[in-house]
Amino acid sequence: MAGASSYSDLSAKPLTPPPADPGPLVLIVEDEPGIADILAAYLKREGLRTQIASDGQTALRLFGQIRPDLVLLDIHLPGMDGVDVLKNIRADSDTPVIMVTALADDVDKLLSLRMGADDYVVKPFSPPEVVARVRAVLRRTGARPANAARAAPIRVGRLLVDLEAHGASTVDDAGGMQPLPLTLTEFRLLACLASQPRRCFSRSYLIETCLPESDALDRVIDSHLSKLRRKLQNAGHGELIETVRSIGYRLWPGA
Ligand code: CA
Repeated sequence: MAGASSYSDLSAKPLTPPPADPGPLVLIVEDEPGIADILAAYLKREGLRTQIASDGQTALRLFGQIRPDLVLLDIHLPGMDGVDVLKNIRADSDTPVIMVTALADDVDKLLSLRMGADDYVVKPFSPPEVVARVRAVLRRTGARPANAARAAPIRVGRLLVDLEAHGASTVDDAGGMQPLPLTLTEFRLLACLASQPRRCFSRSYLIETCLPESDALDRVIDSHLSKLRRKLQNAGHGELIETVRSIGYRLWPGA
């Protein structure tokens, strides 16, 4: 009867897939809430779990409690700075650490790498760029995001945006790839728009995430976008980027 009973037990159970791998846990140490939230949102979308600490002491306490798979560590923090946090982490752990530095911090940057940081990103950064770095370091150190082994290039029509290679190309009829000659800002804008085709991104969002170093003028975004547009048109992509009147821009495949 044991067989019959286990058969009925099995048939009573809904056929659910095994619980998903929860994905690596990233500790974001960042005192600017806006930046921390944007990073968390992007990392979550990539199948990573996140926790945020807004100062060095909290970061070390959380680090001991949650044992993250990777730490994204801002250098300039109130109180204990990122370099001291890194020293403390390295005192008893090999957990990968990516330092986040400001443009003028070359010295800090070199120092932190000598002290055992695994990589660094320079502010201002684009969130997709940070996600690609996180993935690369996790891959190198053996932990994998739950939903992908690699940040898959984004394909929109004949356009291919490769976040890890930091480049965009046009796929020709023979399957060959013609690289698009984009500036860093143009690439960031394209990567952002392509991350969610058809979603309208406001100018202020694009400024914050793609060129936070600028004086945040709408016409700066408009000018970068119009150059990007021209390059896409020249490469045969037509009117891929659509202006949404008085709001912003979106990628509209097939327009
Ligand atoms: Ca900071």
